[in-house]
Amino acid sequence: MTLKAPHAGTLEVICGPMFSGKSEELIRRLRRAKIARQSVAVFKHAFDVERSDSEEVVSHSGIRIDAYAIHNPQEVAQYAREHDICVIGIDEVQFFPQEIIATICALVDSGRRVIVGGLDLDFRGVPFGPMPTLLAIADKITKLRAICTECGQDAHFSQRLVNGHPARFDDPIVMVGAQEAYQARCRGCFSIDRTPNW
Ligand code: ADP
Ligand code: ZN
Repeated sequence: MTLKAPHAGTLEVICGPMFSGKSEELIRRLRRAKIARQSVAVFKHAFDVERSDSEEVVSHSGIRIDAYAIHNPQEVAQYAREHDICVIGIDEVQFFPQEIIATICALVDSGRRVIVGGLDLDFRGVPFGPMPTLLAIADKITKLRAICTECGQDAHFSQRLVNGHPARFDDPIVMVGAQEAYQARCRGCFSIDRTPNW
């Protein structure tokens, strides 16, 4: 039996709560690919404008990389084809609809390296959008931890605060007129009024 050459395509998923360094790690891997003179393109969802300029991915510590803000998954595939891109980064991938999974699989099948960063859990502790599937089909998973703002231990959850108080499970995603904040919290310090219906 002749052994087949290894398939070049891979999917790497970087997950964890807010502030765990997902964007930093994504940017680090993409910068290394650029040093290796590979063709690189970075994408993020067009509505993630709060913490970054529209054409950059910016980490909480200020590390940045140029990125394309896009509205739908097909734009990633189209850009990669038209510009002969080998290494594709997608930040905050949890915000994309389920169609991003087919797009990513097609890119990997065509021999490309796809690296995505995203929240594995939402503020309720529920798996976020396409992340469970992406984690299941990934070649490589990096699950990062932040530092709990309450006790300093490793943090696994993203605590949502509304007007300074822990958000409730059934609070709407957008609360008009409310002061909102997010903190990294460990399992013991994470506060929510009920657990998911597993
Ligand atoms: P993510 O993409 O996971 O939200 P970033 O890569 O944007 O994370 O930011 C990680 C950086 O955030 C850390 O290197 C650190 O400088 C900063 N930071 C702020 N608060 C925290 C925290 N509670 N735990 C860890 N890092 C934090
Ligand atoms: Zn804690």
